[in-house]
Order: sequence, then structure tokens, then C-alpha cells
Amino acid sequence: MMSFEELGVSDEILFAISELGFEQPMPVQEAVIPYLLGNGNDVVALAQTGTGKTAAFGIPLIQRVDVKKRFPQALVLAPTRELCLQIADDIKSYSKYVQRLKVLAVYGGSSIESQMKSLKSGVQIIVATPGRLLDLMNRKTVKMENIHNVVLDEADEMLNMGFEESLNNILAEVPAERNMMMFSATMSAEIAEIAKKYLNNAKEIVIGAKNEGTKNVKHIYYMVHAKDKYLALKRIADYYPKIYAIIFCRTRRETQEIADMLIKDGYNADSLHGDLSQAQRDAVMQKFRIRHLQLLVATDVAARGLDVDDLTHVINYGLPDDIESYTHRSGRTGRAGKTGTSIAIINMRERGKLREIEKVIAKEFSCGTLPSGRQICEKQLIKVIDDVERVLVNEEEIEAFLPSIYRKLEWLSKEDLIKRVVSIEFNRFLEYYRDADVIDVPTEKTAAKECKKAKRGESDSAKKSRSAAPGFTRLFLNFGKADGFYANHVIELINRNMKGAKPCVGKIDLLREFSFFEVAEEDADSVIKALNKSFANGRRVVVEVASENTGKSDNSGKKDGRKNKKRVKDNSEDFAPKKKRKSGKKNDWQRFFEGEFSEPDNSLWVKKSKKRRK
Ligand code: AMP
Repeated sequence: MMSFEELGVSDEILFAISELGFEQPMPVQEAVIPYLLGNGNDVVALAQTGTGKTAAFGIPLIQRVDVKKRFPQALVLAPTRELCLQIADDIKSYSKYVQRLKVLAVYGGSSIESQMKSLKSGVQIIVATPGRLLDLMNRKTVKMENIHNVVLDEADEMLNMGFEESLNNILAEVPAERNMMMFSATMSAEIAEIAKKYLNNAKEIVIGAKNEGTKNVKHIYYMVHAKDKYLALKRIADYYPKIYAIIFCRTRRETQEIADMLIKDGYNADSLHGDLSQAQRDAVMQKFRIRHLQLLVATDVAARGLDVDDLTHVINYGLPDDIESYTHRSGRTGRAGKTGTSIAIINMRERGKLREIEKVIAKEFSCGTLPSGRQICEKQLIKVIDDVERVLVNEEEIEAFLPSIYRKLEWLSKEDLIKRVVSIEFNRFLEYYRDADVIDVPTEKTAAKECKKAKRGESDSAKKSRSAAPGFTRLFLNFGKADGFYANHVIELINRNMKGAKPCVGKIDLLREFSFFEVAEEDADSVIKALNKSFANGRRVVVEVASENTGKSDNSGKKDGRKNKKRVKDNSEDFAPKKKRKSGKKNDWQRFFEGEFSEPDNSLWVKKSKKRRK
């Protein structure tokens, strides 16, 4: 193996990286640094975060800058603000001893004026998100004419986020004579296309096998019923008392719900998703970085660019719709030579996706068995004992209190005292798991039964309130019996608009002017998406998640269907109209809001049984 010195790295940089603890180059650095130090060399690299790629492109960028010239010479494009800041910080730390080198991160969501001011002060390396950079280029505050090194980091993510056009516009302004390097965690047809368009004779570097999940990551799945996913998550968190993990959910709503439940159940958790303000997101990320948070529940998009090296686990609360996202998720653990575990908590309906992911990561998941209550209690007990052993006692400060402490506890034997101290923490788990049910492992048969049961609306909780059966989400539909809509029309509407596997539909409640229907939780988002694009009887269909008790919908789908003004207005505000009708006769909206439809007397299964009786 070569040393950094042998790769041609300059003394100033050697100094800085040795202070950072870099002793040997990582494989991507060995492959890329000498090549990029030369002229006219393009590289396309399949390498994930954690492989040392930032130093691989950052070091040659720094070294090729002429610090005497006070204009931009190198450009790094990255998909998110967080990643930009991370890369800029890394480059600054490698160039700590390079005098007069200026690096600037420019990204959307913060003051463009201050970025313009900084640019004027003579920046040589720009790390930017495509949208903001284009904005700055259009304002003529940044010129591309002297850029001789371009890096596209997480190119696949930039394309996923819809930056293709911005990239094309930016790259059109960069001189043809340049080194260009593209990093991507996956090689899709679109990435190959960009590479073909912008790179010349690019050297292709693959760190690890193509499209392979990180080597140091173990992949485990736990198969549970949809209704048990949260319980399974809690068991996993409890079994690893020192867990430091990101829990990925598929939607903002689910992210918030799971985080809320974890917080309520006493876990050190918080949420990160796009409904939070930038300031809130920053605060959560910072708390997580400094480990004041153990569990971060996040959406894929919001977690992008959050650079944390030593996650013990990545937890997939269900599998992502986009299989490639799994690679990104699991690549967040097992970094920098450490080992990590990527856990997927799934139900039977996700098996197919699991197999597809196995193909992409070229690795098999092992099937995990959830720890029993006893195993968890044992682990927690050991943790408490460990904590007692390790706690730092501040002799000086505690001294003054000791006499009264001793006096108060003097009647306890050493054994009693130990039991009590340990129980302070331990009782929570003991109590919870003493009577906890075994979490059932589903089979084909039980999964089918569950679906049928929900269809019949047999669930007690569903009967008691308007909440959906476990594992199902209750959706609002802006068509009812007055539109000639009956259960078969609802099913037909779904089937007509859903490509591929049809969702599992549960109970259907038909009212005069609108209806509710349940679909399997994991299908809810795709059903909302598909149906909101559709029309029925010449009118736009509006489908939203119905919330449990108030009869209000949570508005998650409100951006679609705006054209259907009257109905959407009813729907996006309270279901209850402002005034009762003059006749005193209530319409569906009023009756629903006043709780008259809590029993499923309009539901499909009752209708069927009535028919049968005839
Ligand atoms: P990256 O893939 O750029 O996100 O880097 C992953 C982690 O590895 C970062 O924390 C780097 O600081 C660290 N790192 C990069 N190169 C080396 C090296 N040669 N030796 C030790 N650590 C490194």
C-alpha cells in the first residue's frame, strides 16, 4: 500500500491530515488522488459515504488551486445543504495549513446576500447545491470561466432530487478543459447518461462491488404483522441499550407518529422531516450529532447529508419504495472501518421488496428473531450494572452531602442497596416485559387472515372509534352515494389507478357526499398518490388520510385536487360547515362531525350481510 506522500500529497496537506489521524490512504484515495492531481483526467466512482471519498476528491482539489489567484477554480456540487457544509468543513480541515485558501459553501435556504458578499472576497473552492449556484450565476456574482476541477458528489441523489436541468445549465458554463469527477452510490442509466455526456474517457473506479451495500454492514430483517411493527421496534431499541440509530420511515406523517410514540414511551428520540423548519431540523441534527439523542426518526430526504460516522444501527421501519434508498440508508452505518447493522422491520407484503434489495446489495438478509422480554431485561440489567461501575464520582462535590446520605441509608445492607439502585432503572423494563405478549411471527396463512379480518371490520378498536383496523390506514374519499358511488366503485377506482400489485382494501364506509375506506398501511401513500391524479364522473378525485376522532382530515394530500374548489374547500377545512342548513336537516358533513357515523352501519360488510338476508 502506498503512503499519502507517495501519492503526491503536498506537505501542508500531509500535516493537516495526519493531525486528523489519517495514517494510510483508503482504497478510493489511493485510486483517485494521483489521477486527479494530473491534468485532463475524469473519473466516475461508485463509492458510498464512509469510504473516504471526500478526502479522495478534496485533497487534489486543494492542491490544484493557485492561491495567488482570487477567483473560483474548483467546484463541488452536492444535493443538500448539510452535505455542502460537511464537504466544505472537511476541505477546510485538510487545507488548514494552506495559506490564503478560501472555501465557501453556498446553498439555498439562507441569505443569498451574505453568500454574494463572501464570494466577492475571493473564494477559490465553491461547494454548492445546484439550485443556489445557478441563482448566483444568473445574478452574475459567480463566474465559471476559471473552474478547472468539478466534482459531482452523490450524483444519483442530485438526479433523484430533480437537479438534472440545473446541472446541465451549470456544466454548460464550465470550460471544456477541466478535471471532472462524479461520485455516486449507485450506477443507474441516468448516471451513465450524465457520465457519457460530461466526462471524457473517464476512469471508472468501483469501491467494493458495483451496487453493493457497504462491506461492514450486516443486514437483518424481522418479519412481523403490520400491527406489531412498533412493538418490534421497541424491542430492538430495548435490546441494545447503547443503540445510536437512525430509524427511517417512508413518510413525514409516519416519521412524526413514530417519534411521538417513542418519546411518549420514554425513549430518547426525536424526528427529522421536511415539515419542520430549517432551524428545527438544525437543532435536531445537532442534538443527534453530539449524541444527546439516541434515536433519530427520519425520512430519507431529511436525513440526507446528516453526516454521523458511528451509528450502531440503521433501522428501516418498513422498506423504502425506492429500492436504491436502501443502499443509502444502510450505508450510514458500518463507516470508516467500523461494523454496523441495518435492520428491516417488515411485514409479509414486503417480502418481494426484500428480495429485490438483496439483488441490489448482492447480499442476503439474515432472518432475525425478536428478543424475548427476558433477554431484554437481562441486557438492560447488565447496562445498569455497567453504568454503576463506570459512573464518575465527583468526590469533592459529593463530600459535603455524604454524611446525611449515609445516615439516611444506614439501615440498608449492601445487598439491599445494590438491589435498590439497580431497580431504579431496571423496573421500567421488568414491568413492561413481565406480561408482554410474544410477538407473533406471521405466516402466509395468518397474513391472509389478518387482511380478511380487517376487511370485515371486526377489529374492536375500529368498532369503538373511527380509527382504522391495526395495520390499516383510513382514507377519506370525496365521492359518496349521492355520486352513485358504492363499494364496488371504490374498489374499481383503486384498481383502475394503481399499477402493479393491488393494495389490500379493508372496510369501506359509504356516506351520502363522501366515503371512507381502509387500505393496508404500507399502501396508503401510493393509493393517495395514484388516486389524487385521477378523475371520476368528470370530477377530480380527492383522497386524504382521515384522522381519528375529530373527523378532520390531516390535509396531507391537499395540494392535489385544488381545481375541485367547492369540495376541496369543505374538505380541507373542518368537515363541519360553518352554519347548519336552514331546514334544520343535517348534511353528511354535519352528521359526521357530530359523531353520528361512528358505528359502521354504512359499511360494506353490513351491506353485504343485509343483502344475504333478503
Ligand atoms: P467520507 O466517505 O468522505 O464521508 O469519509 C468517511 C470518514 O473516514 C470520515 O470521517 C473521514 O474523516 C474518515 N477518513 C477519510 N480518509 C481517511 C483515512 N485515510 N484514514 C482514516 N480516516 C479517514
